[in-house]
This record gives sequence, C-alpha cells and structure tokens, in this order.
Amino acid sequence: MIRPTSNAPEAQEQILSTMNRDGSRRRIRPKVSKGRYYRPRFLTAWGLILSFVLIPIIKLNGKPLMLLDIAKREFTFFGATFLPTDTFLLMLLLFSIFVGIFLVTAIWGRVWCGWACPQTVYMEFIYRPLEVFIEGGRNQQIKTDKTGISGRRLLKHIVFFVVSAFLANTFLAYFVGWSRLLDWMTSSPTAHPIAFGVMIGTTVLMFGDFGWFREQTCILACPYGRFQSVLLDRQSLIVGYDEERGEPRQPWRKKEDRTGGDCIDCGLCVSTCPTGIDIREGGLQMECIACTQCIDACDVIMDKIGKPRGLVRYTSQAELESGKRTFIRPRLVVYSVMLLVMFGTLAFSLVGKSTADVTILRGLGAPFSVLQTGEVSNQIRIKIANRSGEERSYTFELVDAVGLTLVAPENPLTVSAGDSQMTGAFITTSPNSFIAGEIDISLRITDGVDFDELKPYRLVGPEVR
Ligand code: SF4
Ligand code: SF4
Repeated sequence: MIRPTSNAPEAQEQILSTMNRDGSRRRIRPKVSKGRYYRPRFLTAWGLILSFVLIPIIKLNGKPLMLLDIAKREFTFFGATFLPTDTFLLMLLLFSIFVGIFLVTAIWGRVWCGWACPQTVYMEFIYRPLEVFIEGGRNQQIKTDKTGISGRRLLKHIVFFVVSAFLANTFLAYFVGWSRLLDWMTSSPTAHPIAFGVMIGTTVLMFGDFGWFREQTCILACPYGRFQSVLLDRQSLIVGYDEERGEPRQPWRKKEDRTGGDCIDCGLCVSTCPTGIDIREGGLQMECIACTQCIDACDVIMDKIGKPRGLVRYTSQAELESGKRTFIRPRLVVYSVMLLVMFGTLAFSLVGKSTADVTILRGLGAPFSVLQTGEVSNQIRIKIANRSGEERSYTFELVDAVGLTLVAPENPLTVSAGDSQMTGAFITTSPNSFIAGEIDISLRITDGVDFDELKPYRLVGPEVR
C-alpha cells in the first residue's frame, strides 16, 4: 500500500469506507450480528462450502461433476462434457449463465454477493469466525491493530495459511481433477514442480485475499460489483434504511419522550458492516453486498426499544420512496424470454447430440508418401470422444472404396466413458486413382450400439491425370 507522506493534504470528506481521509487503509473489524438472517445464511454458507469441496470429488458418468480441463480444452458440467468442437454449445451455456445472473440480480439484487459468493462465504463463515476465536472480538482486534503484531495474530495468520492451502487445493481440483491432485499431494514436489508452484501461488493469493485484501475484493476488484448500477433497477431487492421512519435520529434515553424517529443512532448497523459503510446514507451504495448484517443488528435494537423490526430491511428503492413495489417490468420479461430460448436450444442440442464425436485429421509430416510398391499412402489421425456413459469400441471402415486399402493398427479403438482417444491409420491406393491429385472418400465409424456415422475425407496424392 502507498502510504501518504506526512504533509499530504487530507480529503475534506471520507471518499471510501475503507480509506481514511489521509489516504491510508481503514481496517474494517465488523462485529458479527446473529439475528434472524444469520442462521439461514450460516446453513446456506456451510451447504455451499461442502458443495465447493465435494463437486470435484463426486463423479457422474465416470467424470467429476465439474472439471475445467484447460490443457485438454474439455469442460465437464454435471455429466455433460463440452469439447473444443462444442464452441456453440459452450457459448450458449455461458450466455445463459450471464443472462441468468442479469435476471437474478434484477429481481433479488446482490443476493449472490451476500449469500453465495465464495468471497463472502469463506470470509464470513470460515476466516472471520476463526479470527474471532483466535484473536478475540472487534474491540480486541482494533486494539491489536494499534499495538501491532501479537502472538494471537501470528497464530491466526498461520491458521489462515493452512486453511488457504486446503481451499487452494479444492480450487485447483476444478481444473486438474481430484485424482490427479491427490497424486500430486502424495508425491514429492520435485516430481511436479510446476503444479506445486501453482498450488503455492494459489495458496498465497487466497491467504492475501482473505487475510489482508478482504472487503477490497468486493469494493475494488469484483467486476460484478462494479456493474450493479446497470444490473439493478428501482424495483430490485436491496437492503435499505427507512429514512422516513428513522429520521431525525435521536439517542435513546430511558424515561424520555421521544420526539425523533426510530433510529437511536447506536451505530450498530455501521460497526457490523463488513464493508464499513453506513446504510443510513441511503440510495444504492456500491459497497453494500446485501449481507443482511445491518438488518440483524438493527432488529435487535428495535426489539429492545419496543419498536417494530424493519427500520433496516429488504426493500427496494421504489418502495422506500413511494411505499409501492412492482414486480413485473420489461427487463424481467426480456431476460426471461432470452433465458428460455437459450436453455431450450441448449437442452434440445444436448438431447439430440450423438454419443461420440469423431474428428479426422491429416497425419503429421508430408501429406502423402509413395511406397516401394508404387502405391500412394495417406496417413490420417482419428480422434474419438466417447460421450456415452460406458466404455465403447469403435470400428472404422472405408465405404464404397474400390481399390483403396485401410490399415489401422487399433481397429476397433476402445475408449472409456467420457474419455477421448486418438489413433493413426493409413489409406493406400494406386497413384492412377487420383484425379487432379485428390480423391474424396468416406469413412464409416460405428460402436455397434447407437453410434454410426459417415465421415467425409479428402486423400491427396500425385497429379497423374
Ligand atoms: S450495509 Fe448492511 S447489507 Fe450492506 S454490506 Fe453493510 S451490513 Fe451488509
Ligand atoms: S442499528 Fe438501527 S437504530 Fe442503530 S444506528 Fe443503525 S439504523 Fe439506527
């Protein structure tokens, strides 16, 4: 962090909730509020943490539920594997996810950020509780911030590093698969130095994120957070403060007639906020991740002073201003229709998809060779991706190929479920068969069960006639 010089001018007002007026970082040490929303958030978070860990381990059709194999360019989502040849389907899936996010955000605002984003889930339900357990509550943490490093803080960082290593490994499992990761974990780092380097790098990034960068990820780095002003409208669900009911604020004193609003200016909604903002400043605040902590904090106060709950509540900008909320609006209809069309096309394409993908490629090196017998030989490579849920043996043969001979050392080619294999083959013929140096042929590939496909291919040879 760049520290301001001692004679740097201070800002007239606070610009960011996480920055002091002199430009230095303002550490956020929120006090956890355990109200009516905390329990469902806790259960949701732990359900998600378990899912994050188990998704790469649980298998469907012999493949993990999710595997993003970038090296092989194969992407598996809940039993469906997308290959490089599935660019259209992959694009459709990605667009569907984007439109789905637009729709969910337009209806429920930042519900993803507050309830399901790994940043919030890990921070608030793993790292934060560990921090409180090891270091103490908000006051103790602020005290340690002033005095510098303490034994407890050091211990906390060690524990954070270990947790980060575990989470980094679960994250990597999405890209390399659990079984390969397990191999790496149980063998010496010198056997796989690059993978070990990636694992250490990811651990350090996670440690830095959850131990130091924290809410800055949501406020400064997250692109989704930056797009809130266009994704939400005045009817979208937000966490908001009822200004009409709360103002003017008046501190609470027993046995005193209240003339002000319901807000007693206790500051609990601010001290509990993980991004350090004051929800009472109103409007749609970009830093608000809709975590509901301030709702829980304020409800406790309202209960204590005998006022109805909901001074801070789930609401919408329109409802706060006019008391009315409309659910159906044009953008929801447009998003829903788009989503239906895209999911429909995706489902239709997946259902109608054959159980294998066959690609025929030219062999490496010269396009053809002339054998001692005088015949011309083309080397080809046949790549078969088995999309079915079981091992299959694929046979290939030439169709209507008078004078052509296929020599394939692996015919049939056995491919296990969800896997892909490549084999080489040669097609030989007389040089007189070529017309202008070419012959168009067809190769039939079948698994004898439900896959039977004719693949066109063009042989090349000498220009005899
Ligand atoms: S303002 Fe409330 S809902 Fe928004 S981030 Fe802060 S505590 Fe969470
Ligand atoms: S917690 Fe409620 S009463 Fe206390 S300052 Fe916030 S809005 Fe006002």
